[in-house]
Amino acid sequence: MAGEPQDDCLFCKIVAKEIPATVVRETETTLAFRDINPQAPTHVLVIPKAHYADAAALAAGDPAAAADVLREAGEVAAQEGADSYRIVFNTGAGAGQTVFHTHAHVLGGRGLQWPPG
Ligand code: C5P
Repeated sequence: MAGEPQDDCLFCKIVAKEIPATVVRETETTLAFRDINPQAPTHVLVIPKAHYADAAALAAGDPAAAADVLREAGEVAAQEGADSYRIVFNTGAGAGQTVFHTHAHVLGGRGLQWPPG
């Protein structure tokens, strides 16, 4: 069923605390933790606790949780002292998505180039 935990999902396992992560914020609907392979001084992933494969699926299936993820991304940036930052949702393997559980990358703490690669 939409939103239900998936046995084979790494981020569902992090939500269930079966795999460790460095959590920086948590709400009833979201979890924010440091990326294990940081691409910037601030690189935090904000995920919904519910399982949706990507950002569009989350927005369609649970719009309130999608809004929670975006709000928490801003809260993470503020907590990290990043006044300029980027929120990235890689969507699809061709765009670099490797974990198919919605996650916002919050990147900051250095200059960010445009366009991204
Ligand atoms: O957008 P993409 O799907 O590639 O992002 C997945 C991210 O999850 C990667 O940046 C990777 O470093 C991170 N990751 C993590 N902790 C894990 C496994 C992956 O932070 N245990």
